[in-house]
Amino acid sequence: MRVAPESDRLRWIRLILNACALCETMNMEFDVIVVGGGMVGASLARALSGCGLRIAVVESWTLNSARQPSYDDRAIALAYGTRLILEGMGLWRDLSSDVEPILHVHVSDRGHFGFTRLHHESLNVEALGYVATGHDLGNILFRGIGDLPHVELFCPASLVDFDVSENGVHVTVSRNDEELNLNGRLLVAADGSRSMVRERLSINVREWQYGQSAVISNLTPGVPPNGTAFERFTESGPMAMLPLNKGRYGLIWTVDDARLHEVMSWDDSEFLTQVQQCFGHRLGRFERAGRRASYPLSLVRAEEHIRPRVVLIGNAAHALHPITGQGFNLGIRDVAALADVLVEADQNGRDPGALETLSLYAEWRRHDQQAVALMTDSLVRLFANPLLPIRIARDIGMLALDLASPAKHFLTRQFMGINGRLPRLARGLGLEC
Ligand SMILES: Cc1cc2nc3c(=O)[nH]c(=O)nc-3n(C[C@H](O)[C@H](O)[C@H](O)COP(=O)(O)OP(=O)(O)OC[C@H]3O[C@@H](n4cnc5c(N)ncnc54)[C@H](O)[C@@H]3O)c2cc1C
Repeated sequence: MRVAPESDRLRWIRLILNACALCETMNMEFDVIVVGGGMVGASLARALSGCGLRIAVVESWTLNSARQPSYDDRAIALAYGTRLILEGMGLWRDLSSDVEPILHVHVSDRGHFGFTRLHHESLNVEALGYVATGHDLGNILFRGIGDLPHVELFCPASLVDFDVSENGVHVTVSRNDEELNLNGRLLVAADGSRSMVRERLSINVREWQYGQSAVISNLTPGVPPNGTAFERFTESGPMAMLPLNKGRYGLIWTVDDARLHEVMSWDDSEFLTQVQQCFGHRLGRFERAGRRASYPLSLVRAEEHIRPRVVLIGNAAHALHPITGQGFNLGIRDVAALADVLVEADQNGRDPGALETLSLYAEWRRHDQQAVALMTDSLVRLFANPLLPIRIARDIGMLALDLASPAKHFLTRQFMGINGRLPRLARGLGLEC
């Protein structure tokens, strides 16, 4: 008998192992396939892990890729309700050392008399919200995600196509030039405002281009942050300053598209001078500016959020202007409600992808999604209006709001994400699984 030389034997072993791996990939079965591992998709995978449902997460870009749209340097204001959800998911403790609390909010119409202030003491909470960078949030959401019970991460990998049948959804994914077939009971579209899943299903969107872009940069102010977040409505567009860790402030400056090229081409010194002129000196003299990035702004709302075996969440369902810092906060509330509904369905032997199950989710989320989109869009339009009577009316409105406790209380709770019927995670409790 001829004994194969060492190199032949190794080649055979490798061929057999590859064939086994191929068999495995051909039969990949899941309960929930999440397309998009951005802030919202990754949050859903974390929320559901350990509850018995088998989860796949498909994400095109690795965490540290410059093309990853969710986890860059942008400052993300996390509402108090979002903190509770992250607590329920067991992530808050790790994130808390990277966040800066928002104790007070100061909203003003620059050069005019209107202003409104919000304080954490009046709501009896430790903070109205917190600020993290997208990158820090991504680190926490992605840490060990592929090792979580029943979670399989496909990254970098992209959705190629999918097909919905009565009993399931068949998803084709491309990873490293090979095509994988995943079978699931539910497809979750968390693939952002240009959602491919939404497009393939021909779901209509209501879309409004604001003709504006958000310019972001993290700044070092002359005075240390004292927990105050500022929203300044200025002639050249709304400007938000959010207290960030390491003594910085996160700037989100809305500029008309016609001015974007000019703003992005300034050197740092010119940029700081212009920001200073617009914002004023409440934070002393700005000393340093971090990397600048810009994002075109639009309102995108899908007309349907569920179809049999498919659900749209986060930006795939509703992408908002960042003026109120609500996009992710709204998206993680989608996650908390969906996780509640899916786990409950599974525990009671119901199909998580059935339309009846998904309808419970859609109905639960409808009011909050509509209210936040409407409030955000109205604010953008109100403060973009240069007409004198409108300007006077909005300034009187701001002062009235500053004085009227019940209205202020209601609005603040809405922005904190703690109004209405709350799922378990939004009450800071883990899922019962
Ligand atoms: C300047 C700015 C400031 C903001 N500030 C705040 C704030 O203060 N507070 C707040 O709550 N929100 C804020 N937001 C909004 C927030 O960033 C978004 O709501 C949030 O990122 C949406 O997350 P998402 O996961 O739904 O979508 P995305 O972040 O767009 O993620 C979608 C993911 O899907 C992946 N993907 C897409 N297509 C495919 C495919 N075919 N296959 C595989 N993967 C795919 C993408 O790579 C991406 O990772 C801000 C937004 C901007 C632009």
